[in-house]
Amino acid sequence: MFLSQFQSVGHDLFTRGLVSSHTGNLSIRLGERIIITRRVSQLVSLCENDLIETGISKNDRATPLASMELPVHRVIYRQTPALAIVHAHPPHAIALSLTETEIVLNDEGLSVVGPVPVLGWHTEVSQLKLADAIAQALKQHRVVLVRGHGSFAIGQLLEEAYSLTTALEESCQVICLLKSLRASSAKG
Ligand SMILES: [Zn+2]
Repeated sequence: MFLSQFQSVGHDLFTRGLVSSHTGNLSIRLGERIIITRRVSQLVSLCENDLIETGISKNDRATPLASMELPVHRVIYRQTPALAIVHAHPPHAIALSLTETEIVLNDEGLSVVGPVPVLGWHTEVSQLKLADAIAQALKQHRVVLVRGHGSFAIGQLLEEAYSLTTALEESCQVICLLKSLRASSAKG
């Protein structure tokens, strides 16, 4: 019943270039359970076996099969009202995450998203501290970026978190284009 939602979002993320063949991960929350994509699954062609159900707080036999980002998804569910999470690697957003500490979006898709914080500037933060920082930021924002890595977007539905991810990348692409136009007109 959830498979088609995962399949449609996974397929669209790949075809829009927001994840590469074996990256990105998706999850939904069902009470104290999480359904998350399998470790190294291909989002473009998810099947029933690629959806792993495990606990939000408790480990079980399925836990080792889950995406390596499971700890981040778990902390987000424990600390926010999110019911769905999309983690992607949108290239323009990642490029900007290496130079900016906050992405301020400025056209119509963008007011929906608001300013997007870039986390992980302090490279010494441990994986667990970073997961905590992501969850903290997602109490105020619906999408955040991790420096040089990718985006985490939350929603009530996977579709909603996906839509925030595409709005973020579209805005970042425009910002990158404007930066390069300005750079070339400054030279000319
Ligand atoms: Zn990632």
